[in-house]
Amino acid sequence: MPDKSLKKPFVHLIGAGPGDPGLITVKGRESLGRADVVIYDYLANDDLLRFARPDAELIYAGKIGGHHNREQWQINALLVEKALAGNVVARLKGGDSFVFGRGGEECEALVAAGIPFEIVPGVTAGIGVTAYAGIPLTHRGVTTSVTFVTGHEGHDKEVSQIDWEGLSLGSGTVVFYMGIKNLPQITANLMAHGRPPETPVALIRWGTRPEQEVLTGTLADIAEQARRTGFRAPAITVVGEVVRLREKLRWFDNRPLFGTSILVTRAADQAGEFGAMLGALGARVLECPTIAIVPPESWDNLDAAIASLDRFHWAVFTSVNAVRFFFERLAAAGKDSRALGNCRVCAVGPKTAAALAPFGIRPDLIPADYKGEGVVEVFRSEEIAGKRIIFPKGDRARDVIPQGLAELGGEVTAPVAYRNVTPDSLPAGVIAELEERRITCVTFTSSSTVENLAAILGENRFLHLLKGVTIAAIGPITARTCRELGLEVHVEPSKYTLAAMTDALVDFFSRSK
Ligand code: SAH
Repeated sequence: MPDKSLKKPFVHLIGAGPGDPGLITVKGRESLGRADVVIYDYLANDDLLRFARPDAELIYAGKIGGHHNREQWQINALLVEKALAGNVVARLKGGDSFVFGRGGEECEALVAAGIPFEIVPGVTAGIGVTAYAGIPLTHRGVTTSVTFVTGHEGHDKEVSQIDWEGLSLGSGTVVFYMGIKNLPQITANLMAHGRPPETPVALIRWGTRPEQEVLTGTLADIAEQARRTGFRAPAITVVGEVVRLREKLRWFDNRPLFGTSILVTRAADQAGEFGAMLGALGARVLECPTIAIVPPESWDNLDAAIASLDRFHWAVFTSVNAVRFFFERLAAAGKDSRALGNCRVCAVGPKTAAALAPFGIRPDLIPADYKGEGVVEVFRSEEIAGKRIIFPKGDRARDVIPQGLAELGGEVTAPVAYRNVTPDSLPAGVIAELEERRITCVTFTSSSTVENLAAILGENRFLHLLKGVTIAAIGPITARTCRELGLEVHVEPSKYTLAAMTDALVDFFSRSK
C-alpha cells in the first residue's frame, strides 16, 4: 500500500453531462481516470465509472442504505474526509456542477477545509437534453434569449423568488429543471402573467439516453397530458416557440433502432465495435460476453508450425483471433511477417483481412462466401494438390476447411492458436433485465455464443428468459444452433458480417414499428 499521507489531497469537481457517456469532457474523463476515490450521483451515468481506475473506491452519493438521500452537508463532509485522508477525489455530478448542482456549496466546504480543487464544467441538461430532442434554445427570428429556472423552489420559501412576469412577458425560451411535480403551478403562473396558452411546451425525460422520452403540448394542456400519461422526473420542461422546430430537427429519438434494447453476446474484446454500430442507430446496447478467448493449453503445435513456416505454400486465417494469436507467437519466436514470404495468404472475409493489414499482409484470396465452405470453394480454382497449408484455428473450429482442403489434395496443418471458453456467469444486471423483459433482442454471432449462453443459464432458464425476445443469428450455422436449442430465429442476414447483421436488424425493427 502506498503511504497516503505522502499524497496531496485534491478534488476534481466534474460535470458528467446529462446522460450520454460521450458527453463528458476530455478533461473530465482524464481527471476521473486519475482519482483514488469517485463520489458519484444519481444523474451521472454509471457507465462513466468504467473510466475510473480499476482500484478506485466508488461511492454512490445518492442514497444511504438504499433509502434516505444523503443530505448535502453529509456529502460535503465525505468529500473533505476522503480528500484529507490523502486521496485524489473525483466528484462526479450530473450535467454541470454549477447549474442547480450544489457544486458551489461543495466548493465552499473545500475552501473552508483548505483543500485544493478544480472545476471541470459539464454539459448541463438544459443544453444537452434539448439538443437531443432537436430543440434549439435560440433560433434566429424566433427567440433571442433563454433562461434556466428551477421548477422546485425550496419548501421554506413562502413567496416565490421566480420572476414570473419577466419569464412570461417576452418570447424567450424558458427551461425548467426539476419542474415535473410543479408543472400545473408553473404553467398556470406563466399563463397568468401573460404567456399565451398556445405556447408550445416539451417535457424531456432521461434526455440523451436511449430511454429518452419526449412529450409535447401547449401551456394550456401539457400539465394534464403529463398527469394522464404518468410522465415522471427526471425531466426538463422547455417553454417557447423553439419547441416547434423539433418537428423538423428531430434526429435522436427517431433513429431506426431507438427504443430497442439489444444484448450483444460476443467475446468481450470483440463486442465493442458491434455495440457501437447498434448504439449509433439508437439501440440501447448491453454487452454480455458469453465467450472468453484464451491461449491454447500448449503452444507446442503452433510453435512447431511457425518454426518451419518456409515449408508452407499457403496460410489460411478464418478469424481476427487466429491472426492475433498467430502473430503474437510469431513475434515470440523472434520472427515477423517476412517468415510468411513463401506463403500465399487466404482470409475468410473483410474483418480478418483488416486484421492482417497492420502486419503488412494483403490476402491473395478472400472467398465470396465468408465461411469455411466458401474457403474450400475458392480453393477449387487453385492448384493445391501436394501443397502444404497452415491453418491456425480456434479449438472449436469445424473440420470443414481441413477436410475440404485435404480432399483437394492439400496437406493441412491446423494447430490450435486459441481457445473459446465459457465464462461462469453473466454480467450483473443482464439476468435481471431478461427477467424484467426489458431486452428486446439478443444477437448471436457464432454457434458458441448460443451454446455458451444456454450452458451458463441452463437450458430451461435459457428458453424461459428468451421467450418473446427477438433472436438474431449472423448466419445459417449459428441459426441452426439456435433452432437446435429450441429458439426461433427472427433475423438472419444474407451476408455473414456484422454490418449485414446490423442492416438486417434495422430492417426488422422498422418493419415491426
Ligand atoms: N446539475 C444538473 C442539474 C441537476 S438538477 C445539470 O446541470 O444538468 C436535476 C434536474 O436536472 C432534473 O430534475 C432534471 O430537470 C434535469 N436533468 C438532469 N439530467 C437530465 C436528463 N438526462 N434528462 C432530463 N432532465 C435532466
